[in-house]
Amino acid sequence: MILRPLALLVALLQTAAPGVPAPPAAREIAPGTFLVPGAMPPDRGPDGNTVILAGTTGLIVIDTGRHPWHSDGILAFAKSRNQPVAAILNTHWHLDHSSGNRRVKAVYPQAKVYTTTAVDRAIGPGGFLTRNADAARARTPDANTPATVAEEAALFLATMDASETLRPDVPVERSGAMTIAGRPLAVHVATDAVTDGDLWLYDEATRVAVIGDLVTLPAPFFETACPARWQAALDEVWANPFTLAVPGHGAPMSRDAFDTYRKAFGNFRSCVGSDKLPAACAEGWTTDVGSLLSSDADRKQATDYAAYYVGFLRKNGGASADCRSKQGSGIRDRGSGIRDQGQKGLGTRD
Ligand SMILES: [Zn+2]
Repeated sequence: MILRPLALLVALLQTAAPGVPAPPAAREIAPGTFLVPGAMPPDRGPDGNTVILAGTTGLIVIDTGRHPWHSDGILAFAKSRNQPVAAILNTHWHLDHSSGNRRVKAVYPQAKVYTTTAVDRAIGPGGFLTRNADAARARTPDANTPATVAEEAALFLATMDASETLRPDVPVERSGAMTIAGRPLAVHVATDAVTDGDLWLYDEATRVAVIGDLVTLPAPFFETACPARWQAALDEVWANPFTLAVPGHGAPMSRDAFDTYRKAFGNFRSCVGSDKLPAACAEGWTTDVGSLLSSDADRKQATDYAAYYVGFLRKNGGASADCRSKQGSGIRDRGSGIRDQGQKGLGTRD
């Protein structure tokens, strides 16, 4: 509560301050299908990609990013099309994909949010977001805190203060055909993958798959993941005849590029389950996805992330502490109940 005035001040500064990124421009990637690209701005949290589908009764916005400039890009596109946002679909509750719900809904209050009910656990007592928000509120402001870090924290807490905008108006609990804003779509639910409830879409008309963080470059983000079922979800995407897959972060991919990622994911998971050194698994990852990384900086970041996640996953028997799925880490049983301890761990982390 006490941070609300701070959040307001930050919002004012963000509109006024120079150096704030420009809103990303939408581009058409398939008929009636537009990408508002996410980004990883330095010293800030990432924005996931947004895909906008033109329906007959309005726009379907798939993921809304984190920062106000990203949602400004979505709103500018809707305005330029002179079409209302009829639906928001969140692939998962990570806030780089859903913080913008608040700003999009403020302009289009009739827009219905489609997502799984996994978010209710994340914002409920002891949930991932609740724990992180408690930790952020408890942190004493420090004169040495960089402005961007303070801004990111204020944005996070402002989103949590409005967490009802993250919840589904239309809970999606199982895979099936849906017509959203007049557009027929195959909506898939992947349980216990990137989070405990992810959505991804296949649009048969354009052969575009919108797959959220099932693909994230330079490396998968395992903070809330169950890697075994995540891999199964990648296989399920692969079984569809898509020609273009839009990941949660990074450029749209061909089938071949997707398959490169899918195989690299499997190799990395096997390596995590072996006794190989983290550096070896990390090098393996970067080599396997090499053709998908465009610069030395990307390759270094890929290796650094992957090395970190080897330790992170091994601490919890091959999955994140928040993974509810007891089976299917795919890692051999170390017989110590490590995973159970992890499940109970309600400690906070950044
Ligand atoms: Zn993401």
